Amino acid sequence: MSFDTIAVVDWSARGAPSPAKPAADAIWIGVARDGAVSCHYHRTRAAATAALAALFEAERAAGRRVLAGFDFPFAYPRGFARALTGGDDPLAVWSALAGRIADGPDNRNNRFAAAAALNDLFPGIGPFWGCPAGFSDPRLPQKGSARHGHGLPEKRGCEARARGAQPCWKLYTTGSVGSQALLGLPRLQALRDRFGPDLAVRPFEEQDAPIVLAELFPSLVAGAVADLAEPGEIRDRAQVRVLAGALAALDPGHLDRMTREGDAEEGWILGLGHEAALAAAARRAAPARAPVLPPRLSDDCFAMPQGVDWVPVDDALAKLRDGLHPVTGTERLATAAAAGRVLAEDVSARRSNPPRPNAAVDGYGFAHAATGAGVQRLPLVAGRAAAGQPHPGAVPAGQAIRILTGAILPAGVDTVVLEEDTALDGGTVVFDGPVKPFANTRKAGEDVAEGALALPAGHRLRAPDMALLSALGIAEVTARRPLRVAVLSTGDEIVDTPAKPALPHQIWDANRPMLLALARGWGCEAVDLGHAPDDAARIARRLDAGARRADVILTSGGASAGDEDHVSALLRRRGRLTSWRIAVKPGRPLALAVWRGVPVFGLPGNPVAALVCALVFARPALSLMAGAGWVEPRRFTVPAAFSKRKKPGRREYLRARLTPDGAAEVFRSEGSGRISGLAWATGLVELPDGAVEVTPGSPVAYIPYSAFDLV
Ligand code: AMP
Ligand code: MG
Repeated sequence: MSFDTIAVVDWSARGAPSPAKPAADAIWIGVARDGAVSCHYHRTRAAATAALAALFEAERAAGRRVLAGFDFPFAYPRGFARALTGGDDPLAVWSALAGRIADGPDNRNNRFAAAAALNDLFPGIGPFWGCPAGFSDPRLPQKGSARHGHGLPEKRGCEARARGAQPCWKLYTTGSVGSQALLGLPRLQALRDRFGPDLAVRPFEEQDAPIVLAELFPSLVAGAVADLAEPGEIRDRAQVRVLAGALAALDPGHLDRMTREGDAEEGWILGLGHEAALAAAARRAAPARAPVLPPRLSDDCFAMPQGVDWVPVDDALAKLRDGLHPVTGTERLATAAAAGRVLAEDVSARRSNPPRPNAAVDGYGFAHAATGAGVQRLPLVAGRAAAGQPHPGAVPAGQAIRILTGAILPAGVDTVVLEEDTALDGGTVVFDGPVKPFANTRKAGEDVAEGALALPAGHRLRAPDMALLSALGIAEVTARRPLRVAVLSTGDEIVDTPAKPALPHQIWDANRPMLLALARGWGCEAVDLGHAPDDAARIARRLDAGARRADVILTSGGASAGDEDHVSALLRRRGRLTSWRIAVKPGRPLALAVWRGVPVFGLPGNPVAALVCALVFARPALSLMAGAGWVEPRRFTVPAAFSKRKKPGRREYLRARLTPDGAAEVFRSEGSGRISGLAWATGLVELPDGAVEVTPGSPVAYIPYSAFDLV
């Protein structure tokens, strides 16, 4: 049996409605349905129960099975049922409690009085305990230690195995799951009454009912919840969301078997003993389902308007920019480990830098107000102020103190005179006035004030940023996970590594190592898909692997429309290909497609064209997908050291480098098979779409490799 819908309920024992604005101490319900998880907030138990009943009705009517889990015990330790009902059936306890508990539409309830009365069933004091100071009934002690002689076990068997599970006798303060059960079981009994045999309570009832209730303990997946919570997400919400997603992602047969495990009298926590499977399912469910992530790409996001033949470079870039969006999830990590990562959130200064006014030089500090023009003679106080060694006392007006660079200004000091501008006369420092007020000091927060924005979301952390964040006391940041970029080479002639021999008709793969290195240099996680011959089935298998393991795929070769161009043929058939004939040299065509929701850049096979297309088109696209925003390389206008007449129609990129006097020279051949020119160059000269006549000395746009973040 499998479930179509999973509802995970985080119950609450509040005595009044929860706040109107979603808060932690309330009822949260996560509903996993059709591959998505929605979260619902309820202010009262009555409202939550009504919502669950409506969900059950709707799903039953649609012929869909629901599993609903609740985070309170479905049964009590052995012996309780018999004392209350005369038998061992936990469900008889449910109806007995329903008869004793009053729980109003506004959450007002009699749970403490009801528990006091339940304690009457047992000798001694207890087992229930815990109540607010105002509630006084000798049958319900405030302290657990005041109980004695009631004769019941403290925990159920399953609770002894579940780390952190609280005993169901405790009704007040942290983790008072006892109150949740007293106020929850009667509500579940009402649902049992309403749905009759269509509702089964596991593990006590075996039937394959359309509605199944089970007991849950979200702490079983605490680690996954901590990892998968969205920034700022209320914990209860994260718990129900992650757990609902995890249960939905489990193998259906496995989940069904889990619901049937346990003890007929004491019940069971669903998933106990299967924590690893649950955590793995939670992580499986997360990437596609985490609501922080935008939807996968639509199939037609690269479509060009009908009738467009040659696409100008700028139009192609604009189209890419519009069609793509960030796809990477986020994680918290130590600042020290975050170099190269993209910030997912703005970072504000935890405290000012500098935190207090301090000395900018070695010299003598004093109060400016007590000095004037002409020769100043200030007696020195004992001691000194140095970096890391603050002077504890105040410096009286008219006196001075020895102070070193970086020292906090002691009380009474606002100005420092540079050591070189002073002389010492015994215990007195002598210098020429007037000195400017606040001279040679740094104001508190003059660099960054506490709370000020230090670095914005989307910023990729570089070495200097490590200094800034650390100086501002930022120990951890929320960063994007690296974009995963898969690289595949295609072609029957390609030998995948120079470690293998190549026959005369074969060539070693030049593109894949280049593209993998580019991706790594851009802070991405490179996924090597190896090489596939010109065979559609084998290319498809590699693309499948790429779509599983990466966020974007770069292929090279086979991208034009020729007979052997299997990549474009395959993408046309199965991957919603948009083959762009971009007006760029070298480069055309560029195939853009979506394969199982993952964008594919089909780069030309030619290494020169592959590099130019990767730098011009893939780099800004990958940056956008990685959460770092669209990027434009910086162009420098330099004089040309070459001549060239260029026809209108295509933008052109030439392999170039700067001469010692700063002019751009270009590689001797424009042949796009000349890989040596790529390594000879230190950048590209970009010639505009229109016609140009370049002569030595004409200004041209030079883009250094470094402006493409090429390492
Ligand atoms: P194609 O785009 O498949 O028509 O390939 C264009 C040219 O690039 C051909 O000369 C190919 O042999 C060459 N080529 C394709 N892939 C690679 C590669 N990975 N490394 C080096 N050259 C390649
Ligand atoms: Mg080929």
